[in-house]
Amino acid sequence: MSREQLPKTGGQATGDIASPKRTKELMQKYGFTLKKSLGQNFLIDQNVLGRIVSAAELDATKGALEIGPGIGALTQQLAKLASKVVAVEIDQRLLPMLEETLADYPHASVVHADVLKVDLQALFAEQFQGVDKVSVVANLPYYVTTPILMKLLEERLPLENIVVMIQKEVAERMAAKPGGKEYGSLSIAVQYYCEPELVAIVPQTVFIPQPNVDSAVIKLKVRQTPAVDVEDESFFFEVVQASFTQRRKTLYNNLSARYFTKENKPELERLLHEAGIEPSRRGETLSMGEYARLAKALSDYLSKADRQTARE
Ligand code: SAM
Repeated sequence: MSREQLPKTGGQATGDIASPKRTKELMQKYGFTLKKSLGQNFLIDQNVLGRIVSAAELDATKGALEIGPGIGALTQQLAKLASKVVAVEIDQRLLPMLEETLADYPHASVVHADVLKVDLQALFAEQFQGVDKVSVVANLPYYVTTPILMKLLEERLPLENIVVMIQKEVAERMAAKPGGKEYGSLSIAVQYYCEPELVAIVPQTVFIPQPNVDSAVIKLKVRQTPAVDVEDESFFFEVVQASFTQRRKTLYNNLSARYFTKENKPELERLLHEAGIEPSRRGETLSMGEYARLAKALSDYLSKADRQTARE
């Protein structure tokens, strides 16, 4: 699917709640006031919902996990396609509203929980029994986008893909290739587990209330096996972090500050050359494969104790 700029307004099908009128009516009926602290920016545009849902490639054999259903605008669309929908919502005040908006979809269930605290393995085992492909589809609360996505990926849930609306700038960092200013440890963390694709840039006008940042829909196709083979994942990600400590510094400077003393510093130059990486390069120019080689070379050189000390 190609990345495109969506129009500023979209058509609304009758019966669906994603319209300014229906959203306001529902909120009024339940005396609901939006909580900014929970990232509550509700989608009011059917076209945008359509783009999110179609990117997930759902069908009657698949399941969907939604994080933060709000009043159920996206949940309804997911329930029209998937065999099972589970929506995790932190705000208890939304539960009676969801009961109303999802009344026609008995295969959609709402779990009242903080997604960052819930046992997702247990939730999958209980809720997605017999469903072999599950997508995460959500208009995420922006204040916790990265922790939520990292939790989903690090837990190695049996996911086919993740299609989420997030802050545009974060989406661009996740999809960035080596060499640019957006490329960093987040790009590597996400691309280690997934193949990212920017689906659409979304204007602020499709939300109530309008956020003060631009948004984007990103699709993360979850890889069967990570993009590179690494022995010690936590050390690999730590080396990546260390390489970006000060973006303007060279790899040599960032890594020597983290792992080497004045005496053994020359060893770092040798290691980098052996790994085929020029010490004067900056972290933002290294590919994931080069990071894997670098982590291996450092790991072989540093004893476990040295790695531990550097971590503290
Ligand atoms: N899906 C709805 C839509 O598109 O209109 C609402 C999206 S709104 C951006 C984010 C939703 O996430 C809100 O309903 C909010 O209450 C919920 N939320 C925020 N933090 C959460 C958390 N830690 N766990 C679960 N849900 C959360």
